[in-house]
Amino acid sequence: KEEAPLNFIEHIIEEDLTKTHTPDQLRFRFPPEPNGYLHIGHASSICLNFGLGKRYNAPVNLRFDDTNPIKEEQEFVDAIKRDISWLGFEWAKECYASDYFQELYDWAVQLIKDGKAYVDSQSSEEIAKQKGTPNEPGTESPYRNRPVDESLDLFEKMKNGELPEGKHTLRAKIDMASGNMLMRDPVMYRVLHKSHHRTGTDWKIFPMYDWTHGESDYIERVSHSLCTLEFLPHRELYNWFLDQVHEENTLRPKQREFARRNLSHTVVSKRKLARLVEEGIVNGWDDPRMPTISGLRRRGYTPESIKNFVNSIGVGKRENVIDVSHLEFNVREDLNKRAPRVFTVLNPIKLVITNYPEGETEMLEAENNPEDENAGYRDIPFSRELYIEREDFKEEANRKFFRLTLNKEVRLKNAYIIKGESVVKDAEGNITEIHCTYDPDSKSGSGSEASKRKVKGTLHWVSIKDALPVEVRLYDRLFTEAIPDADKEKDFMEFINPNSLEVITAYAEPSLKNLKVEDKVQFQRLGYFVVDKDSSEEKIVFNRTVPLRDSWGK
Ligand code: ATP
Ligand code: MG
Ligand code: MG
Repeated sequence: KEEAPLNFIEHIIEEDLTKTHTPDQLRFRFPPEPNGYLHIGHASSICLNFGLGKRYNAPVNLRFDDTNPIKEEQEFVDAIKRDISWLGFEWAKECYASDYFQELYDWAVQLIKDGKAYVDSQSSEEIAKQKGTPNEPGTESPYRNRPVDESLDLFEKMKNGELPEGKHTLRAKIDMASGNMLMRDPVMYRVLHKSHHRTGTDWKIFPMYDWTHGESDYIERVSHSLCTLEFLPHRELYNWFLDQVHEENTLRPKQREFARRNLSHTVVSKRKLARLVEEGIVNGWDDPRMPTISGLRRRGYTPESIKNFVNSIGVGKRENVIDVSHLEFNVREDLNKRAPRVFTVLNPIKLVITNYPEGETEMLEAENNPEDENAGYRDIPFSRELYIEREDFKEEANRKFFRLTLNKEVRLKNAYIIKGESVVKDAEGNITEIHCTYDPDSKSGSGSEASKRKVKGTLHWVSIKDALPVEVRLYDRLFTEAIPDADKEKDFMEFINPNSLEVITAYAEPSLKNLKVEDKVQFQRLGYFVVDKDSSEEKIVFNRTVPLRDSWGK
């Protein structure tokens, strides 16, 4: 297999390898904040970082950016690890920014001593007011030049929990007139009397993202710290902070930025996804309608289908929205190869074969997967009374209707050719039964002349007395708009599709009772389906992963 062309990040690394870096200095990280579950956007970052690890035979750390005790939880740490492993990636080290709190604190103390940081005793509102605008310099804090000893003393009191929340911060003393707003004395620490999922109540001060991220990269000797484009203006600050701690002859991390990947008809933001969970729009982070890795997994996506999708959109410098049909295309491609074919009728109508012996059952052989020669064959029971799909019959139809109608022939897949004869209707005129006759010589695979007869249309079916009732959950897009959060004036929740889930009872061939949770099948002519974790001994539950064909926008 040919190697894919280098992406622009790989070009940067190739160049570094000729000038500044040795191969064994390369090291990467994936740095999630454990404040939610990973989503399809994160899969891009995961594939990029772990892909670099693979290409350059370099370690990739999993680093939890856990500096905000208000939103972070152990549940999210566990979920993130589970999802990355399921995608098939192995991290070299499991790291936590919170493990560096002491080191970061010691560095911060040194910055105060060097006159490069100070404790500000103003509220965040006052600080914000003094920031200025991009065209006008900000106003220096009245505490900017307070004596070093006073800052040291206050900073220690902040750390020890002797000072309340919201009254003091530690700020870097950089440049209140900088053209880069982030350089205008950014806050490095704030006081929070909250329990942290790992450090408990040990720490009452918490470092901000910018102060933490680059220093964590430095501690771990990450060579290339890759983040999304919105961090481009942060790069200057990343470098300023590194300048303060970097020692000569040690590897100096570099931040580089790539474009976020967004998916249509959903939202890819943990904060927004959290609202869907909290407001009960979906049943948890792994609801099959969610664009989370665990939601896609429960929906029936395979790791390969997700990775193929991510690799096909590549790494870019410009943000874009990928149509969800592209993701669906990838899962169809993958499941086509691996999912066994089975018969299930979603919307049943009774079909009676009037010339078939009553009470008889015969077992008919069916191929499990024409795309996989090792998949073998199974037997399906056939009898006088069957279910077929209601949509597969019309009393009167034009010549383009290649399904069952009166006085015309179709084939029942893996079985016989039948001919529509009559219908039974209820008082309201609804069809309740279709009567047909069959040609006993036309059995599929028998080699007889009749079996080779060409008829237009092949239907799937299920023997009624052998049918297994199953619950099927049919999912649709969660949002009616392609970009539900495009209009910043509106709440994306206005665009929830009220019909994103339909639950039905369907009738399956009996072999399906042996399936296990996460087993994937193709319901022939209908789509790909996966066994859901809600299944029990009494009832199997299927999620529709995707219909066989894309019916949207047609
Ligand atoms: P969210 O807004 O969903 O919380 P985030 O960027 O705050 O996203 P992090 O946990 O900080 O979430 O993300 C970990 C890594 O994944 C970061 O390097 C981030 O840039 C990257 N990432 C997040 N979302 C996307 C996306 N849509 N496309 C590509 N990379 C992403
Ligand atoms: Mg983040
Ligand atoms: Mg975020």
